[in-house]
Parts: sequence; structure tokens; C-alpha cells
Amino acid sequence: MPDLIVAGAGMAGLAAAARARELGAEVVVHEKGHGPGGSMLLSSGMIWRYRDWERFRAECPGGDEKLQRLVWERLDDDLDWLETQDAPALHRKTGTPFTAGARFDTAALTSALVKRAGGVRLRDPLTALPDGVPVVLATGGFQANRDLVATHITPEAPNLVLRANPWSSGDGLRLALEAGAALSVGMDEFYGRNLAAAPQISSEDFVPLAQVYARHARVENLAGESYRPRTWSDIDVVQWTARQSGARARYVVPDAALDASVRELTVRDLVEAARDAGAPVERREGETVVEVVAAITTTLGGIQIDERAQAAEGLFAAGGDVGGISTGGWSSALASALVLGKLAAEEAISSRR
Ligand SMILES: Cc1cc2nc3c(=O)[nH]c(=O)nc-3n(C[C@H](O)[C@H](O)[C@H](O)COP(=O)(O)OP(=O)(O)OC[C@H]3O[C@@H](n4cnc5c(N)ncnc54)[C@H](O)[C@@H]3O)c2cc1C
Repeated sequence: MPDLIVAGAGMAGLAAAARARELGAEVVVHEKGHGPGGSMLLSSGMIWRYRDWERFRAECPGGDEKLQRLVWERLDDDLDWLETQDAPALHRKTGTPFTAGARFDTAALTSALVKRAGGVRLRDPLTALPDGVPVVLATGGFQANRDLVATHITPEAPNLVLRANPWSSGDGLRLALEAGAALSVGMDEFYGRNLAAAPQISSEDFVPLAQVYARHARVENLAGESYRPRTWSDIDVVQWTARQSGARARYVVPDAALDASVRELTVRDLVEAARDAGAPVERREGETVVEVVAAITTTLGGIQIDERAQAAEGLFAAGGDVGGISTGGWSSALASALVLGKLAAEEAISSRR
């Protein structure tokens, strides 16, 4: 009988398993997919926090303040810890003045953590909770489950693009609710991106086709009703788009905005990427119109946990399975997965002693 069972070999599950083994525990890691890494592997690998606590609270006002505090206070040390797992950061900067963090090579991070976790049982999902062994649920949220997304988030669920691993379909949420856990706040919120509405979108397109310049454009739905973006991360725009007909919108970009910087690129670069991928891009007098489709990356509502990352007796949860941290806005999902995954392992092991 192992000391700990972990469900999910993404950011939260691998951090939990690596930490548990470091503490001398015997761990079994179940993974539903054919490879480890989950959405972490597909991600940009930027693990970050707001520099100022007040800004975090202001950006995500609906989140559980105690959980937010944990993530905010522990992240820097946990990034140091991650680097001790033979996973050096590519660099420890974010490129955004009001955030701090580090970027990792996600393939290298995945293989380093799998090694530290002592291996992963692939194509072996956790489908029921065992008796007498603590469990960390880290199955990544419910974005791949169209029915749950339709129930909690938008009736346009069938038209959303899944911008995530295909296996995070709410298994952790189901197991936790069966064990008596509660739902968090913010079940109708999600993080995602508006992608260029190309005829084919594969996982290699998740980053390059993201049209992250809503603040430089006029945003309107296909019926011509407009929406005024209100966040730096565009999270409100993608959540609005997901609730429009077809989960689609148009970005009307004035020529004057084409040279505006977006991270290391310009708006023009992103518009050209959209055109090259075959998305509807229309040139008009003095402006360019790009059609976008809402893509869901991770649900922001889910299992409610306490400050020990516990959802029910002997049952812990972390990462996208947990809700109520970014509520009302957006904060790094990799950061909360890392901090709460590690904490969940520590608490689960000490609950055995
Ligand atoms: C393109 C893209 C870019 C991103 N960029 C960033 C970024 O720069 N910064 C950031 O903070 N976030 C980013 N994210 C989001 C981030 O990757 C995820 O939110 C994060 O990986 C969540 O960690 P997790 O461990 O909860 O889930 P995951 O990393 O997805 O891992 C969950 C794992 O659980 C497995 N699983 C599902 N059901 C079961 C089951 N029943 N039993 C066992 N295993 C199961 C899944 O197969 C998966 O491997 C990005 C995501 C994408 C897709």
C-alpha cells in the first residue's frame, strides 16, 4: 500500500509526487493520458505572481483570500525548489512590469519531475477513491467535458475550441463531490484565449494563433454588438466571446494600432499569423477585421479546498481541479498548481503520521 496516490501527471500532480518522494513517501501517480505533462507540457511555461499583494486582490477580487495568500507568499520559494528538481528556469523574469516569476522549458520540466516522482502509470486514470490512502486530485479541471462546460459556463460549449490537453474532463471534480467536497465560487469562469478562427486548429497553434490585442481593437460579436475590454489579460474578452453566438467575435484593428507591441511581437504579426492560418481576415478602408473564436484553457471554478489543500477527509486537491483562486480575473494557473500541489503532498503525508 503506497503512502500517497496522485491523480494526474501535470503541473500539480508531478509537483505533489516529487515533493512526497522527497519526504520519503511511497507514491503512485495515475495518469489518464498517453504521456505525462498535461496542459503544462502545452503551455508557455511562465509561472508567475502579481508583484503586489494588493494588485492580486484587485485583479481577482472574488477569489478566496487565504488561498491567494498561500500562493502569493510561497511562489518564490517554490520556484527555487522547482529549480532544485533538475529543472532550471530558462529565465527568472516575465516581461510584464507588475508580475514576477520564471519561464521553464515545459518538456524538460515534465521529464525532470517525472523522474523525481519515480515514474507515472500512463493510460491508467483514477476512477474511484481507494480506502485508507490519502489522495491528491490533480486532474486539471473540467474544460474537456462539453456537458459540464455547458452546465456551468456557456450554452455555446460545443463551439468552443479546447485549448488544453484532451483528458481533463472533470474526473477530479466528480470524485471530490462524491466524497462530500463542496463546489468553489466562480464555477462559470474560465481562462482561455481568443484564437484566430482558422479552419483547423491543432495544439501547435494554441500560442501562435492567440489574438491577444483586444485592447488595441474594437471588439464586436457577429451581429455587430460591441464590447469594451476591461482587463490587461483579455480574460474578460474571451469569457464574453464564449457567450456570443458561435462563440465568435471580430477584432476591428485600426491601421494605427498595427505596429503596437504585443509581448515580443506586434499586432501586425498576430494578424498575419491569423491570415496565414486561413482565418477570415478582411481589409477595409483604414482598418483590418479578424474573426476570432473563444478557446477554453482551464476552468477557474472547481473543488473548494481549505488552507491545507484538503477537500474532504484524506482527500486533497490542487491545480485546475481547485476553484476560487483567480475568480473575477486571472492569475497564473501554473503558479497555483505548483504551490498547492506541493502543499497538498506535505499535508497528505503528515496526515498519515
Ligand atoms: C497553450 C497553453 C499556454 C499556457 N500558458 C500558461 C502560462 O504561461 N502560465 C500559466 O500559469 N498557465 C498557462 N497555461 C495553463 C496551465 O498550463 C494549466 O492551467 C496547468 O497546467 C494546470 O495544471 P494542472 O496540474 O492542474 O493540470 P494539467 O497540467 O493539465 O495536468 C492534469 C493531468 O491530469 C490528467 N488526468 C485527467 N483525468 C485524470 C484521471 N482521472 N486520472 C489520472 N489523471 C487524469 C490529465 O491527463 C493531465 O495530464 C497554459 C495552457 C495552455 C494549454
